[in-house]
Amino acid sequence: MKYCRFQLSSRPQYGLVETVAGREEITRLLVNPPEDSDGDMEDVPTKRMEPVSLAEATLLAPIRSSKIVCVGRNYREHAAELGHDVPIEPLIFLKPPSALLAPGGQIRRPKISERVDHEGELGVVVAKTCNKIRPDEDVRPYILGYTCVNDVTARDLQEKDGQWTRAKGFDTFCPVGPVVSDEVNPWAGALVETRVNVEVRQQGSTRDFIFALDVVIRHISQCMTLLPGDLISTGTPAGVGPLVAGDVVEVSVEGVGTLRNPVVNE
Ligand code: MG
Repeated sequence: MKYCRFQLSSRPQYGLVETVAGREEITRLLVNPPEDSDGDMEDVPTKRMEPVSLAEATLLAPIRSSKIVCVGRNYREHAAELGHDVPIEPLIFLKPPSALLAPGGQIRRPKISERVDHEGELGVVVAKTCNKIRPDEDVRPYILGYTCVNDVTARDLQEKDGQWTRAKGFDTFCPVGPVVSDEVNPWAGALVETRVNVEVRQQGSTRDFIFALDVVIRHISQCMTLLPGDLISTGTPAGVGPLVAGDVVEVSVEGVGTLRNPVVNE
């Protein structure tokens, strides 16, 4: 099942996305946010509507998160390209919810940064409140679905500041979408690809995570309570690189779709 959030008659609305005759369409309105469905998207009450082409809808970020928790250096080749050792436990940091950006929204390069990079990643949307998941507990009931994330990073400020809040936290630095899908199995391996102006820059499989998703979610939940709608971004493959004004950056995740955003200067 896939869902999106979109603007309908100037109101934000959740919608069910289905493939009809080879085209993705929003076919039903979801009455409640899917995150309120206790982790089972099939149980969300729906009502009929005139189908709208997903490509033509005014999409919004598909989630409303209390926090965005990101994993740093979760692919060996990416850790190596930035000259870092492989971490011995998941390295996590936060992006503020104010950084969320809709599919198609403009990534704004701040004046104070000389180098803004793309980081295409698999995003995980939390289904229900979770805290201190036990070692033998299955993490999957806590996952609502998966989406594409671009963990946009001011690389020069990341190095200058020594911690990552500013580098990762600018408004528009967290494009997400276009949909949330439960048709992904990160343990089996989902392809994550980033393109800039159609040219492939990053390619990876979630099968190559240093820390599998269950390890990551369990680790985060020992520290903070995850709430419905929270976003976990799982780390980026090798090939990160700069974005300049005029670029169009795309992040595709197998089973989700493609998140596309233009880049402008502030
Ligand atoms: Mg990242």
